[in-house]
Formats: sequence, structure tokens, C-alpha cells
Amino acid sequence: MKPDGFREECGIFAIYGHPEAAKLAYLGLYGLQHRGQESAGICAGDGRRLLCRRGLGLVADIFTEPVLAELGGHSAIGHTRYSTAGDSGILNAQPMTVDCNKGHLAIAHNGNLTNAIDLRRELDAAGSIFQATSDTEVILHLVARSRERTLAAALREALLEIEGAYSLLVLAQDRLIVVRDPRGFRPLAMGTLSHDGRQCPVFASETCAFDLIGAEYTGEVEPGEMVIVEAAGITRERFAPEQPRSHCVFEHVYFSRPDSTVFGRSVQDSRERLGRLLARECPAAADLVVPVPDSGVAAAVGYSAESGIPYRVALIRNHYVGRTFIEPSQAIRDFGVKLKLNPIRSLIEGRRVVLVDDSLVRGTTSRKIVRMVRQAGAREVHLRISCPPTISPCYYGVDTPSKGELIASHNTVEEIRDFVGADSLGYLSMEGLRQAVGDDRGHFCYACYTGHYPTDLVGIEKLLASDTRRR
Ligand code: AMP
Repeated sequence: MKPDGFREECGIFAIYGHPEAAKLAYLGLYGLQHRGQESAGICAGDGRRLLCRRGLGLVADIFTEPVLAELGGHSAIGHTRYSTAGDSGILNAQPMTVDCNKGHLAIAHNGNLTNAIDLRRELDAAGSIFQATSDTEVILHLVARSRERTLAAALREALLEIEGAYSLLVLAQDRLIVVRDPRGFRPLAMGTLSHDGRQCPVFASETCAFDLIGAEYTGEVEPGEMVIVEAAGITRERFAPEQPRSHCVFEHVYFSRPDSTVFGRSVQDSRERLGRLLARECPAAADLVVPVPDSGVAAAVGYSAESGIPYRVALIRNHYVGRTFIEPSQAIRDFGVKLKLNPIRSLIEGRRVVLVDDSLVRGTTSRKIVRMVRQAGAREVHLRISCPPTISPCYYGVDTPSKGELIASHNTVEEIRDFVGADSLGYLSMEGLRQAVGDDRGHFCYACYTGHYPTDLVGIEKLLASDTRRR
């Protein structure tokens, strides 16, 4: 399998038993837009057939009123996806569909399978024809090839073959099946939406999607759980033996929205605590705490509250930056960052600034921002990062560059400080991170900070050396 589409960041949403299912899926995806901006799709079912629309771009641009009007039915699943450079775009857009002996199926997947390469090779050899490069298609083929007669049984069989991270939505003509991998790498929240005196089940990567449609969060789809929703009601069952949990800590550090509840805890709460602990571990003698917007905001608030140093929004973000822009022929230094951020000189000039961001990956953006703050007249710039150094790529669904491109994998903190041009650089410790997310039972995955992966990485090892794609 090509490495394209290999690591994906995605948002998923599902609803069952509502006459405006597709419209609500659209709103749900709108609330999950931050989880992927490359493509989006919705499949709706009316009990007899599935209707699907997928497109490249933002949810609101793809799903215009006439497009939504075509998606009638009482159940729907949706997906929004961020893809990696060189990816074959629309072919990998989800939900993916298949017509097989289990009926017409649509599938939406958040996460990354760690044995997809080997499975795909086997399926290829046995005659399966793949249309895209995404590992999600492997699941569809496994379901289609199963000799089990019912969809749930075929899916159970397929799930026992796949490894890695998956929060999955499978829509058939008459039912919705929702699954989460036994370690619970990626989030998957469950809720209900009242309609006409009935409670319609809803599912989403993050609870901010529920807030937008007025649904109530009732809990998580448990790791290793399969939820079958059909006209007769809901069945919840365990499809795999219990395993240690490995919730992705990066969801709390960066990826999820702060107004969401993820893995049963408030993201805002985690982020403020990250900032508070960072202030305790890495204090700075400074006049201002300035967040790198938007990712550093909550941690900067925590840093300021703990240290007593005033919080000031001294970097202003342009929220309307698109994917492409026309650069003047005379090159402007740090143009990309300048488009997004502009400092307020009157706040910064002559001051000692603590700049807070959630993570430092390659160091290139941080270097430009530090330079920008200096050019705005800062006397000192102290960079504080609200997580430990990122030293290893993620193979469970967060798009990180290869190990070689991760600056902390081959540089000391002092070397990184020198590269980004800050007066001082401080990272949160592993212990601080654990404490901030309340992980007293070892339920989180920290592989990107430790290099210790909670699962075997058979097949992926071959890519470890060769993978040089960009974030
Ligand atoms: P850099 O200084 O180039 O390492 O970039 C750091 C910035 O990238 C920080 O502001 C992070 O919030 C952001 N960042 C970290 N991880 C990701 C990711 N997986 N996708 C997009 N942005 C990220």
C-alpha cells in the first residue's frame, strides 16, 4: 500500500431515526471541521437505499442546500478528513461505499490500521480490487469477503483481523453499526437527540458536534464495543477481549476542540492544567504571557493564572486564510506565517514575553513566530511548550512527519532553543502531562513523546525508514 492516506486525521458523525438525518449530519460535521479540511462526505439511508455525496473542501462548501435536499432518509453518517500531501483526494474521501452480499454499505473511519499493508496485500492476491489507498477500504473488503451471513457477524470477523486505531461508523439500508477499537485510541462519543417524543441516537468524534444540534452527551462508545442501532432498538456488545486502554493524549494537547468532552473529560480543563503545570515546571521572569493562537490559548491562560504574569493576546490571527494564496514575486520573508499571524507592537515592544504553544513538531513555524515577536520589539522571548518533546511519529491517526523531521528526535532542548532563536525554551514533563490529563490509571497513549508504541507495528516498520512525507 502506498504511504499516501496512511495517517489520517478525521472527524465522524452519525444519527439514526431522524427525518432530517442528513442535515443534522451536515451540522455535526460543521462542528468537527477542525478535525479535517481536505474532504467531507455524508451518506444517508432511507431504509431501502443509501445516497452519498462526497467532495473536496470544507463541509459548508460541499453541502449546499440542493445537495442536502438529495440526501433524504432517517439515518446518516458523515466524515471530514485531512489528508497528507500527494494523496489522491476524492478517491480517499469518506464515507466509502460498497455493494456486496451484505447489502449496500457505507463506512466512515477515524484512526489508522497498523496492519493494513499486510491485509491489503493478502486481499489483493485473493482478487480484491482496490479503488483508493486508504486503509478504510481494507475493512470494507474484509466484510465483503466474509462468509458470515449477517453484517454484524461479518464485521465482527473483520474486526478480529484488523489492528490499530479505529472509531468506525457503518451504515446499511436498515441499520447503523458503531465500533471502537479495543484500546480506544480515538474518541467516540454517544448521545441522544429528542425528536417527536423519541430519543434518536447520535455519535460523534467530539461532543462539540452534539452541542450544535442540541443533542445530549450520554457517554462514550466503550473501547472494544459494538453498538447496533436498528428500528427495534439499540444493542451494545463487546466484540473483543478487554485490552489496556490507549487514549490518544494528543487529542487533549492539541487536536480536539476545548469545548469538547473527550475520553470523558473536558479538553479545556486538561489544557489549562497543562499550562499551570508548565508554569510550575518552567517558570520565566517575564512581563507578558502571549498565546500562539489558537492552539496555545488555553495553556497560556493556565500559565498566566499559575505564574501571575498578565495574559495578553498580542498575536492576532487572520481567520480567513485559505489553502492557496498569491505570493508577490518579490519574496517576503516568513510570508506564510505573516498571513496567519500579526503581532501587536504596542503590547510587545520592550517587554519580556513568554510565548506559549501546545506543541513543537519541526520547529520551523515556531522559529518564524519567535522572529516575528522579536521584530515587534520584544526584549526577551521565552518559548514554553505545553507537552514533552515530540520524538516519534504517530501510527494511530494523527498526522506527524517522519522521525527524521521531528526536531526533538535528534536535537537537545538547548539545540532546539538555538534553532528557534528563543532566549529560553521549556517543555512540560511526561509526569506533568499525565497529571494534567488525570491519567492515574495508565489509560493514555504517549507514543509520540516516548517512542513506546502500545501495539505491534508489523508492516509499518517498513515505512518507518522510508516515510518522508510532510505534515
Ligand atoms: P513547528 O514549529 O513547525 O513545529 O509547528 C508547531 C505548530 O504546529 C504548533 O502551533 C502546533 O499547534 C501545530 N501542530 C502540531 N501538530 C500538528 C498537527 N498534527 N497538524 C497540524 N498542526 C499541528
